[in-house]
Amino acid sequence: MYNLLPFRFERLKDKEILVNEVGDFLIVPTTTVKRIVDKEIKKDEELYKDLTTWYFICEKSIPELIDLLAARLRTKKAFLNNFTALHIFVLTLRCNQNCIYCQATSRECRESAYDMTQEVMVTAIDLMFKSPSPSLTMEFQGGEPSLMPRLLLFAIETAEQKNEEHLKQITYVLCTNSINLTDEILNICIQYRVLISTSLDGFEALHNHNRGKSDSYSHVVNGINKARTVLGFDRISALMTASEESLKYPKEIINSYLENGFHSIFLRALNPYGLATKYSDWSEYYDQFIDFYREALDHIIDLNKSGIFFVEEFSALILRKILTPFSIGFVDLQSPSGIINSVIVYNYDGYVYASDESRMLAEHGDYTFRLGHVSDHYDSLFYGEKAQKIGLIWANETIAGCSDCAFVTYCGADPVRNYSTQGDMYGFRPTSSFCKKHKQIIQHLFSLIIERKDEVLPIFKRWINSSAG
Ligand code: SF4
Repeated sequence: MYNLLPFRFERLKDKEILVNEVGDFLIVPTTTVKRIVDKEIKKDEELYKDLTTWYFICEKSIPELIDLLAARLRTKKAFLNNFTALHIFVLTLRCNQNCIYCQATSRECRESAYDMTQEVMVTAIDLMFKSPSPSLTMEFQGGEPSLMPRLLLFAIETAEQKNEEHLKQITYVLCTNSINLTDEILNICIQYRVLISTSLDGFEALHNHNRGKSDSYSHVVNGINKARTVLGFDRISALMTASEESLKYPKEIINSYLENGFHSIFLRALNPYGLATKYSDWSEYYDQFIDFYREALDHIIDLNKSGIFFVEEFSALILRKILTPFSIGFVDLQSPSGIINSVIVYNYDGYVYASDESRMLAEHGDYTFRLGHVSDHYDSLFYGEKAQKIGLIWANETIAGCSDCAFVTYCGADPVRNYSTQGDMYGFRPTSSFCKKHKQIIQHLFSLIIERKDEVLPIFKRWINSSAG
């Protein structure tokens, strides 16, 4: 007779997906869960061996296995080991574009009241160095941070100088729309090996539509090509955001990325912040996004089958969680949540927020996730009352709906999203758009693994190996 170890399950197609406490899965025929729980699995069945090997059942007493499972769990949660690694600096709210879904509540180019001062920057950098993480990422955002070349240089030089004492590994990332990649900006990028993360929403007409400018695409593509020539081809990556208009063009968007020399795309849904709240009918948007995502993924799989290596990055992140024992650094798919644990935001005005989305709420007058000011003590910001309050509900494993969901190990927690869409940080999974999107994407990936295993698994494995997570 065997003992049961903790696992969860989901019925999909004519199968049951069993997932154990550390994310190992088995795909079995329906009614298997009942047989396992009724202890009807016979020792000579192949399934018995699988269930034992993957910690779904055990013959020995449970305590002997606890240490092994604990080691696996520590590996899965390794992103927590070093605390906050990603530090976002909002250099300015000013912007030179007019995106229809703007989440950052950008301001006109001339409004210098929305720029970060050098004093705020220095204090924020001091806070960053208090993080125990040996690796730090300094990410410069806006508005449009390339409008602030002097502050950008000042920030990096200050960090470099302070790092002579701290000896951390620092990565610099400039999040820019690439419209204003001047020689001054690119020289800073060359000197300090700054990575560029830009946004490209697809082909020319669509990109221009989403930017609210008729000439944005040509400027962005020129900017990308200039940056590639000066910095190196792989120093610039792009993100797309799917507006309602974008959802009509899954294949065309992928093709435009290929035409522009990219070998991957991150299919990113709109988040209900900033201007995006005004422009979208959310109840329909997420259903349509899932259809868009499925069609785009099918097209990407076809491209890979034809010999063109091309990765969908969001799928690759989830697949890394499904198919490997390792953790990933992507803050939206972490539990405990990525906010504070992995990311912190220093706003242009010196206030510190739990995440990028938190400061966007603040721009609309809601300061729920404002942790304090850069002049406050590190402990009161990172371990203070607000952080502790959020910490009570930031792990999927402890909240209703998620705690018994088969996909809990593959998913993430987002109290900010719960708050902004459902009115409280705890959230309610049956009506959560975040849950709906994640569950349907994970289900779709499993459906592909069930129905087209031989065709898709080799492609998925190549994606995982190509990305660091
Ligand atoms: S958010 Fe939804 S899909 Fe994710 S773990 Fe919770 S219930 Fe599961």
